[in-house]
Amino acid sequence: MTLRDHLLSRIAATGPMTVADYMADCLMHPTMGYYATRDPLGAAGDFTTAPEISQMFGELLGLCLAQVWLDQGLGRVTLAELGPGRGTLMADALRAMRGVPGLADAVAIHLVETSPALRDVQARTLAGHDVQWHDSVDTLPHGPLLLLANEFLDALPIRQHVRDEGGWRERLVAHTGADLTFALGPATLLPELSDREDLPVGTVVERCPALPHIVSAVGDRVARGGAAIFVDYGHWRSRGDTLQALRAHAPEDPLASPGQTDLTAHVDFEAVARNAGFARASGVVPQGVLLERLGITDRARALARGMQGAALDAHVAAHRRLTDPAEMGDLFKAIALVPPGAASPPGFDE
Ligand code: SAH
Repeated sequence: MTLRDHLLSRIAATGPMTVADYMADCLMHPTMGYYATRDPLGAAGDFTTAPEISQMFGELLGLCLAQVWLDQGLGRVTLAELGPGRGTLMADALRAMRGVPGLADAVAIHLVETSPALRDVQARTLAGHDVQWHDSVDTLPHGPLLLLANEFLDALPIRQHVRDEGGWRERLVAHTGADLTFALGPATLLPELSDREDLPVGTVVERCPALPHIVSAVGDRVARGGAAIFVDYGHWRSRGDTLQALRAHAPEDPLASPGQTDLTAHVDFEAVARNAGFARASGVVPQGVLLERLGITDRARALARGMQGAALDAHVAAHRRLTDPAEMGDLFKAIALVPPGAASPPGFDE
């Protein structure tokens, strides 16, 4: 049985499915899901992320959290990551944190990861460290927390609602023969979207049903000390269809090859800020601005001193890719959660 067969029989049994249910099956089906079955990252995979582009990304975010640890005088603390991929971000952050006396011994490493294939890769990358894995944020310890999440929220399933004269029509996944197709559900009133009713007919608004619980569970822990940093591509407010499939670094029709392509949607940072729980949300900072404020140019120069030829060219290109507004610098954004009354982490303005 293929994932397409599974989806077709599911639609036959219960009718057209929400985009969120479709994404959840495609990404996380226990035997046929995209993440459940492979390591999709890197040049040979389907997409590349900031920590895979350069070690500078993890180093600077690690030092940013180290400064929070010093400023708040935290002592023992949980160092957690959501959706750690290959474990590269955590490894780079930990290496940079070793420069801060006492910090390495104060942290307990906790990773939230559902993919068994990626847990294996993370265990190899972080060999020598004591690591505890979790299926969800719910079992993370309740004390002070330093948390990183890069390109995690974009992998969470979203629902799509299309503005109509009489309310909102949900975009659904149906089929014609063996082909999966989009369809529209009946118009309904959606109290959750009552503040978006000024949008023109036909506009798509996306909602991520899992986001409020995940972000507020993190926020409630951070409220006792520490900080959480979310980095992802997105905007302050969801507007428009951003469902995207990537294979071998090229976009594809999201319905064409279920389970074979990475499916993501842009993150609605307003929803992150609104669901911070007992924590306070910082303003949203473009990734390029954040990395410049954290000192990426100095770090890039220091690393460049030992390089030449192709390695130096690749290093310069990686720096540009992370920070240039025409590349990742502007589309990718960061937001931090901190205890109420605490200062934002370095690099984050109010
Ligand atoms: N942060 C990494 C990987 C990003 S890919 C990087 O920047 O390179 C998304 C990651 O989130 C993968 O590790 C994937 O397995 C994980 N993931 C996706 N949905 C998840 C969920 N609901 N719970 C836990 N992990 C999830």
